[in-house]
Amino acid sequence: MGFRLMSNNENIQYYVIESFNKSNKVDHLFSTRIGWNNNNFSKNISKLFNVKEENIVFSNQVHGTNIGYIKDIEKYKNEIFPKGVDGLITDRKDIVLVTYYADCVPLFFLDIKNEIIALAHAGWRGTVKNIGGKMVDLMVNKFNSNPKNIFIGIGPSIGPCCYEVGENVYNEFKKNYSFYEELFVTKKVNKWYLNLWEANRILLYNKGIPNGNITVSNICTSCNNDKLYSYRKENGTQNRMISAIKLKH
Ligand SMILES: [Zn+2]
Repeated sequence: MGFRLMSNNENIQYYVIESFNKSNKVDHLFSTRIGWNNNNFSKNISKLFNVKEENIVFSNQVHGTNIGYIKDIEKYKNEIFPKGVDGLITDRKDIVLVTYYADCVPLFFLDIKNEIIALAHAGWRGTVKNIGGKMVDLMVNKFNSNPKNIFIGIGPSIGPCCYEVGENVYNEFKKNYSFYEELFVTKKVNKWYLNLWEANRILLYNKGIPNGNITVSNICTSCNNDKLYSYRKENGTQNRMISAIKLKH
């Protein structure tokens, strides 16, 4: 099972995670550039999830590891979460969580038993600080999740084929993780290609998430620039893609 490209009758295209669909617990998507722009996120989600725009909450991302718990939609109606957070979590069925991307790794979380959903934005900084693992800890400690019931999607982002990084990034991973060598391929002096998908997969597996519960998209934003926006490929585009998720009633 993997990520699958879908389209509605107006040719709004988006990816879904097959294991999440199979659970029948959530509406969710990762947007593309086909039928989407920075101004129609709420409108499209409202249409695709059949939910009011005021039930959508957006993150205000700062490349950190803070996570916002949305326990009450009244405060946030179709607005941005007030604090700088790179993750959102909820147990409410009337809330749509949304986070933004343009090469960083989108992480989707679903506890199929306790019905908890979450999203996290993991660029190299968020990955090296293990925002994914932090989210699993929060699900276990606050929501009593068993890691065996948590399903995870690692969505489209810049891939190991295209994500060239310098010594500062290499050294941060080397300093923090014994398995860092598995994440890098070097082709030039002091330049490496970093595999953020594998970094996040290993970190989540180390938190007790079974490999069979983790779906890696293996879809590179830069290689698939016809379908997806890429900050690097497009020299700092302002266009964004979103992850969105909502528990079904
Ligand atoms: Zn690529």
